[in-house]
Amino acid sequence: MNLQGLRAAAQDSPIRLNVAGAQDARGPGVAPASLLIETGEGGDRLRLMAIGTPGEIDRDARSGRARVVEMPRTVILPGMVNAHTHLDLTHIGPREHDAGAGFMPWVEMIRAVRAADEAETVASVARGIELSRSAGVVAVGDIAGAPRSTPGRASLAAWRTMREKGMAGVSFLEFFAIGAGRERYLQWLPRILEEAEQEGALAVNAGSGHGARIGLQPHAPNTVCLDAYRWARSEAKRRSLPLSTHLAESPEERRFIGERTGPMRELLERLGLWDDSILAETGGGVSPVAHLAPVLAGSGAIVAHVNNASDADVELLARSGCTVAYCPRASEYFGAVERFGPHRYRDMIAAGINVALGTDSIVNLPVLPPTAARTPAEGGSGMSILDEMRLLWRRDGTDARTLLAMGTTNGAQALGLADGFVLEAGSVLAGLVGVEIEPGGESEGGEPIERVFDSASPAELLFG
Ligand SMILES: [Zn+2]
Repeated sequence: MNLQGLRAAAQDSPIRLNVAGAQDARGPGVAPASLLIETGEGGDRLRLMAIGTPGEIDRDARSGRARVVEMPRTVILPGMVNAHTHLDLTHIGPREHDAGAGFMPWVEMIRAVRAADEAETVASVARGIELSRSAGVVAVGDIAGAPRSTPGRASLAAWRTMREKGMAGVSFLEFFAIGAGRERYLQWLPRILEEAEQEGALAVNAGSGHGARIGLQPHAPNTVCLDAYRWARSEAKRRSLPLSTHLAESPEERRFIGERTGPMRELLERLGLWDDSILAETGGGVSPVAHLAPVLAGSGAIVAHVNNASDADVELLARSGCTVAYCPRASEYFGAVERFGPHRYRDMIAAGINVALGTDSIVNLPVLPPTAARTPAEGGSGMSILDEMRLLWRRDGTDARTLLAMGTTNGAQALGLADGFVLEAGSVLAGLVGVEIEPGGESEGGEPIERVFDSASPAELLFG
């Protein structure tokens, strides 16, 4: 039975999936496993009725009327969460990048080729959603950037596209506000929040893994002044909005904050944005994390990347209650390890920080042979959180269950999606992912998620 068939069958009667294994972030999983599932009213909600060993499910009276689907080589996982991505850049596709040349040529390239207007943005976000879902991702922290035609002004277009396409999560409205440009942007922001309120984009998610809402994304410490961060912070608190920002991503950012020099300053000067107000809050030799720490404290913000973090920075972040959205393939693409040393996500977790995974945009994802779901221009990697986990499994030998949490429940928590990401009987799932495993191999007899990491098969969204 193909996936369409599965979905159709689940509308008539419960389905029993007999699979090689099933696992979520809470425990060691079950192998082999059986799951009883049904779609809820309207056919769009997926409810997990029961999960257990085949013997346990045999004894469940409801299994008698279920249609049985045998998937003996498939491991079932919850839908995955991409805590930091830029769906509006999907149209650009993967691009080669010379990490040795630094961050700025890449920034200039994005500025030059990014979506020209709202129609192009909508098409790009829609394609990004398709690619995400085809890789098992059912919720995103998407950064809604501004199209070329209205620099510095993101719109609700990305959020509307998420809502239409049934992608859960948060559309973070990105803004710049520094130096001579800060007033201009801060005048626009309250207006778009009013518009968002009228459209229902601010409604707090009722706790399921479904639904999309708006958040705020001051872009980064080198493009947003502290006053604007404070404004975003208080506005987010007042309206119960999620907050996100890029932080400690590049050496150029570090140099700008610590020494107020370098290519980030040159860019602001070239754009006519540099003024004396910037002098007051840069150049003190502090790290980007320390620079933002007073604003972040207690905000629950998602801070993306944090490629650079001292012991003191890790402690500051732990006290702040922030989530770090680590984007492993993006860090490698930009050469962060060569500049800052290995990413400290394991130290962050040990310090009590919620660490989730992101892909960043498709631009920094590897160019691989295309598959049926992806055109040659989009490469073969898709927007796969499973591939982010696999990289850390192979490269660092990180505990498999920790990685599964980073790619599911930790991201869901950061986006305010309380339920839908654990395989618990009675729960409404945000999605159900299947991954084919290979017989034999080092992880044979290990937990289902270890078998998944050792397989090369892509994640497939069975439902969601
Ligand atoms: Zn980003």
